[in-house]
Amino acid sequence: TEVPIGELVADACELYEAVSEDKSQTFEQSIDSDVTIEGDRDLLFQMVSNLIDNAIKYTPEGGNIRVAVSPAGSEVRLEVSDSGIGIPDGEKENVFQRFYRVGKSRSLPGNGLGLSLVSAVTDIHQGRIDLADRYDDEEHPGLSVVIHLPVTVPDGRGPDRQEN
Ligand code: ATP
Ligand code: MG
Repeated sequence: TEVPIGELVADACELYEAVSEDKSQTFEQSIDSDVTIEGDRDLLFQMVSNLIDNAIKYTPEGGNIRVAVSPAGSEVRLEVSDSGIGIPDGEKENVFQRFYRVGKSRSLPGNGLGLSLVSAVTDIHQGRIDLADRYDDEEHPGLSVVIHLPVTVPDGRGPDRQEN
């Protein structure tokens, strides 16, 4: 099926915004893409939901969550970033394993399955994932998860866009 990825991400944000607000976090979204990708809507929704769930969970009260979708050539770029506790560089490659949790996991609940699902869904859609610190700050690095997925219907936006 052709999945409108921007709409899907907006739907997931709508579901999680209240959870984030309950933690007095600021929740920003920037959805600037009307492309579709060939794939499985339910799996993609699970993928995005798990990323947002992690961002909220691993970010203390008063922090910031940001979800962005933007065009990237023949791909769409999805970023979920937070101002939370982050993942140390030596652990970034481990967290996609099933049941793996950093520091088990710093007393927050979970099974260590979310990111293995995210990784599987990205693979199924021929995408790729990058994890990076959001801030250059050892104490409060935050996390930025960036996923690129190939698009099927190119974005009408960009420099050559026809108005009306
Ligand atoms: P589940 O998703 O199954 O409820 P979980 O959140 O512990 O449990 P994953 O989503 O797979 O499992 O994440 C694996 C580990 O990666 C987490 O336990 C945590 O240590 C780390 N992690 C994931 N997302 C973040 C994040 N946004 N900030 C800091 N650490 C994170
Ligand atoms: Mg999780």
